[in-house]
Amino acid sequence: MTRPASIHKQWLELSATAQHALRLTVLAVLVAVGWLIVYFTGGTAYAYPYLMLIPVILAAAWYQLAGALVSACAVSLLLAFMPLDVATSELQTPANWLVRLGLYLVLGGVAGVMFQRLHSAKRHSLHASYIDSRSGLPNYLALEEDLSKGLEGNSGQALGLMVVRITDIVDLLETLGADASDELVSAIGQRLGRVVNGRARIYRFNGPELMVLLNSADHEVLAKVAQDVLSAGEENLVIQQMPMRAQLILGYTLSTPGTQNARQLIHEARVAMFEASNQQRSCSAYVPAYRKRTMQAIWLISRVRHGLENNQFELHFQPKISLADNSVCGCEGLIRWRQEDGQLIYPGHFMPKVEKTTLITPVTRFVTEQALTMAAHVPGGVSINVSARNLLDNDFIEMLRALISQEAVPASRLEVEITESALMADIKDGSRSIRAIRDLGVGVSIDDFGTGFSSFQYLRHLPLSGLKLDRVFVMDLESDVHARKLLGCMIDMGHALGLVVTAEGVETRGQHDILVQLGCDQAQGFLYSPALPIGDYERWCDDFMHSDRSALSLAVESGRTL
Ligand code: C2E
Ligand code: CA
Ligand code: CA
Repeated sequence: MTRPASIHKQWLELSATAQHALRLTVLAVLVAVGWLIVYFTGGTAYAYPYLMLIPVILAAAWYQLAGALVSACAVSLLLAFMPLDVATSELQTPANWLVRLGLYLVLGGVAGVMFQRLHSAKRHSLHASYIDSRSGLPNYLALEEDLSKGLEGNSGQALGLMVVRITDIVDLLETLGADASDELVSAIGQRLGRVVNGRARIYRFNGPELMVLLNSADHEVLAKVAQDVLSAGEENLVIQQMPMRAQLILGYTLSTPGTQNARQLIHEARVAMFEASNQQRSCSAYVPAYRKRTMQAIWLISRVRHGLENNQFELHFQPKISLADNSVCGCEGLIRWRQEDGQLIYPGHFMPKVEKTTLITPVTRFVTEQALTMAAHVPGGVSINVSARNLLDNDFIEMLRALISQEAVPASRLEVEITESALMADIKDGSRSIRAIRDLGVGVSIDDFGTGFSSFQYLRHLPLSGLKLDRVFVMDLESDVHARKLLGCMIDMGHALGLVVTAEGVETRGQHDILVQLGCDQAQGFLYSPALPIGDYERWCDDFMHSDRSALSLAVESGRTL
């Protein structure tokens, strides 16, 4: 059975000519039926001639005033030749059918005018719903409709769709308010209009995003338009008497015969734009691999969420050795994800994605809780890794404060490791957070030192407690005299700043000896132990303390698979 919705859809899809033909047939049938009823019920003297008003009103609904007047005349004319009384064949007087004609014209005319008003109000509101009232540009509904029409039209030419995002609009919104940001969007919209110069239509898709639709495009055309758009963005603008320059970032895509609908094309353009943003580029063209990557990332994030709810995460601990006396002086907590089949997944496979989402908050909470539970029982305390996002999140500091008092652990037993690049991403707010963390009594070390670009000027003024030298500087210590000199300088610099210096990734006895000679304070690496689950780590600490540490003879567990 055909459902009403699909009947409606089929009706909408009928061509305009077919619709008219169908309507005219319905009207003709109604007129004929009406005429027959009037005739067989006795003639025009009886009540039934008013049945003929039905097709008149219907014609008014479909064809407004013109339809009403034409149909009123037509049905009056038809009835004019019918006898007053069919049985006696008594004919109507002209006054008789003229009055009826007048009545039909008046009633039909009034209905026609009313329907006309209704239609124009509907058209007006339909038009308004396709316009973004704040910028005056066509909105996403208009875009979806134009795209659908373009994709249906079988011209064989590809549609080009470009999304242009104004990246700094949030700052403007915060400083000057919503009116200023709308003014900026309108100004950019006008500028884009000049750039595309009639070749494309501009839409406001949402707050900071504009869309450019080119009806026939290829990659070359799109790349050229993209360049023009970006250079247009670089010109100065004046918004509410303030000169400014908008930061634009854009992504674009081309329709293919396989493009299913408008939404797919919009999605592709936005995926390309986000890819440009991820790669810190201003422009990117869509390639199908992007979609696959996004899908994988979404899938991964949903699995991490599920893993958190099902306690699949573990914190493992890797010891830090004090090089002065070969004792265990602390450990670093490193997250692991245990799969249902028991296999461990290492953070390199999921943390980069997690760090880009709000999921980092519960993940870091889990890590902090685990670390604090351990901090009182293991030698020297525990260090945890925190992301740039954590660092800039005020709630993170509050969470630290709450968990420390909840676990009743001295704050000095906890240390936070922040990578150099995370700190440099926003040095101003990052420095403020570091001060707040230090005020809690928690240590702060710069992780992977030497791989980012930190300014010594900043480091000098930050209340840091330690510096962790990245393992790339340790790797070549035995074979390269320059590597040794460089590491020596870095250790001296750390000491000059009053920091405890830890070398990461120590794998050989030779590297260990050189680090001792260079005066490094602490070392961490597979030479001593990989990161271990809590029970194993406690046993390892016991064994290590009771071993002949002067010879560092402990076997290195090498069963680790990264
Ligand atoms: P990281 O903080 O630099 O941690 C050191 C990484 O080097 C760890 O890898 C560790 O297992 C590995 N490693 C230790 N000794 C050696 C060695 O002698 N040789 C070699 N080749 N590698 C060694 P892992 O556990 O896979 O962690 C990788 C990165 O993931 C960490 O680098 C850290 O940036 C991040 N990470 C780990 N746990 C967390 C966490 O809880 N939160 C956050 N935000 N990031 C984490
Ligand atoms: Ca670390
Ligand atoms: Ca590191």
